[in-house]
Amino acid sequence: MAASTNNNKPRVVIIGCGFGGLEAARALARAPVDVTLVDRTNHHLFQPLLYQVATAGLSAPAIAAPIRHLFRKQANVTCLLGEVSAIDPGARQVQLKDGMALPYDHLVVAAGATHSYFGRDEWAAFAPGLKTLDDAFEIRRRILLAFESAEKESDPRAREACLTFVVIGGGPTGVEMAGTVAEIACDTLPGEFRHIDPAKAQVLLIEGSPRVLLAMPEDLSLRAQRQLERLGVQVRVNSRVTSVDAGSVEVQPESGAAYRIASRCIVWAAGVAASPLGRQLADATGARTDRAGRVLVEPDLTLPGHPEISVIGDLAAAQSHVPGKEPRPVPGVSPAAKQMGRAAAANILRRIAGQPTRPFRYRDYGNLATIGRNAAVVDLAWRLGRFKFSGYFAWLFWLFAHIYFLIGFRNRLVVLIDWASAYWSRQRYARVVTGIEQQQAKARGAQT
Ligand SMILES: Cc1cc2nc3c(=O)[nH]c(=O)nc-3n(C[C@H](O)[C@H](O)[C@H](O)COP(=O)(O)OP(=O)(O)OC[C@H]3O[C@@H](n4cnc5c(N)ncnc54)[C@H](O)[C@@H]3O)c2cc1C
Repeated sequence: MAASTNNNKPRVVIIGCGFGGLEAARALARAPVDVTLVDRTNHHLFQPLLYQVATAGLSAPAIAAPIRHLFRKQANVTCLLGEVSAIDPGARQVQLKDGMALPYDHLVVAAGATHSYFGRDEWAAFAPGLKTLDDAFEIRRRILLAFESAEKESDPRAREACLTFVVIGGGPTGVEMAGTVAEIACDTLPGEFRHIDPAKAQVLLIEGSPRVLLAMPEDLSLRAQRQLERLGVQVRVNSRVTSVDAGSVEVQPESGAAYRIASRCIVWAAGVAASPLGRQLADATGARTDRAGRVLVEPDLTLPGHPEISVIGDLAAAQSHVPGKEPRPVPGVSPAAKQMGRAAAANILRRIAGQPTRPFRYRDYGNLATIGRNAAVVDLAWRLGRFKFSGYFAWLFWLFAHIYFLIGFRNRLVVLIDWASAYWSRQRYARVVTGIEQQQAKARGAQT
C-alpha cells in the first residue's frame, strides 16, 4: 500500500511530531508543498513537564495535544498515525510497520531519542526511564504503590525498602524527579496513612560525575544540590550505579567500597540514545553516527550526498555555525529542536526555489531546571551576557516559561489552574493508579 497525492506539488514527509517535526510542519504552512506528518503516537508531547505526570502533579492531557487537532487548519498537512520501520533513500520512500509506504521528494527525520542503559538493557524492567506518557504512568504507579506497600508491611526492613526511592542520574530530569518525590513524601502524603510516616521516606539521587546539572555553570549546580538537600534528598555524586535488580541498586563510589541500597522504586534518568531509526538511516545512506547514535549532519542539517534528507532535533549530531567562529555542538534541548525544524523547512523551500541552502545557527537562550516548590536555577543567555539566579524568582521564571511554551490555550489554562491549586493546597491531584493487579503479579514474578 503506497500513499499518493493527485497533484504535482513537492512531497515533504516529516517523521516525528515532537518539537522538531511540529515546528518544521508549521514552518511549511503557506508553502506550495504537500506535507505528510507521521508519528507513532497521536499526540505531541511536552516532555519538559513529563515528570509532573510521573509525580501526579498533572494529568496527561495537560501536557499532550492531539496532532490531528493541531493541524486541523493547515490544509497542506496530512497526519498519519504509524511507526516508521525503515527509510529507503534509493527509492525515496519511508516504510511504515503496517506495510504502508510514503514516497517523498524531501524528508525530515525528527524521531528524537530514547533511554540508554549503557548496554545493560535488562535494567530497564527494574528502573524505568522517562520519555513517553506510558513511562510517566509506570513511574507514577511505582511511586504511589511503594507507599501503599509500606502501609501494609510489618517487616521493618521491607518497609524501609518500600520507603526508599532511588533516582539514577543527576541531569535536569533526575533533579526534578528527586525533588518532587521528596515533596510528595513530606508535603502531599502526611496525614493520609495510619501505620507509616511518609515524611520518613528516603530519596537518593545518584550521579556519576562530580556534580548535578553538569550542563549548568558550577555555582548553579551547587545551589541546585543545596536546594535538593534542603528538601531532604540525599545527593550522592561521584557514584556510579553498577547493578540494578528488582529490589536494589548497587553503587560504586569513586573512593570506598561498593554498597547496595534496597529500594522498591528506582527511576532511571541517566542516559539518552538516539532513536534506532538513526542507525538504520546511517546504514542506508553511508552517513556516520556518534557514540549516542545521533546522525552526523552537514551544516545545513542534511545528510552527506543526500540533500533531500534532513535530520533534526535529538536525532541529529549538529553543529551551530556562527560566521567567524568555530562550529559548536548543538545541545539536545527543545529550543534547539524547534530551531532546527524551522531551519530545515526554510532550506527545503530554498532547494525548491533553486537557491543555496544556509548553515544552521543555534540561538542559545540559556538553561533552566526546577528542583521543587519555590526552588529552581536559571542560567539565561542575554545579549549583554549570562544572567544567573536561583530560588523563588527562578522558580517563578521557570513556571511562566513552561506555561508560555506549552502548546494550546486550554493546556496553558489547565496547567496554570492545577499549579495554583497545588501551590496553596500542597496536593497532587492526579494520583489515580490503574493496573494494580498486573503490577503486583509482575512484582511477585520478579521476586521468584
Ligand atoms: C523527561 C524529559 C524532560 C526534558 N526536559 C527538558 C527541558 O526542561 N528543557 C528542554 O529544553 N528540553 C528538555 N527535554 C529535551 C527535549 O524534550 C528534547 O530535546 C526534544 O523533545 C527533542 O525534540 P525532537 O523533535 O528531536 O524529539 P521528540 O520531541 O522526542 O519527538 C520525537 C517524535 O518522534 C516520534 N517517533 C519516534 N520514533 C518514531 C518512529 N519510528 N515512527 C514514527 N514516529 C516516531 C515520537 O513519538 C515523538 O513524537 C526533556 C526531555 C525529557 C525526556
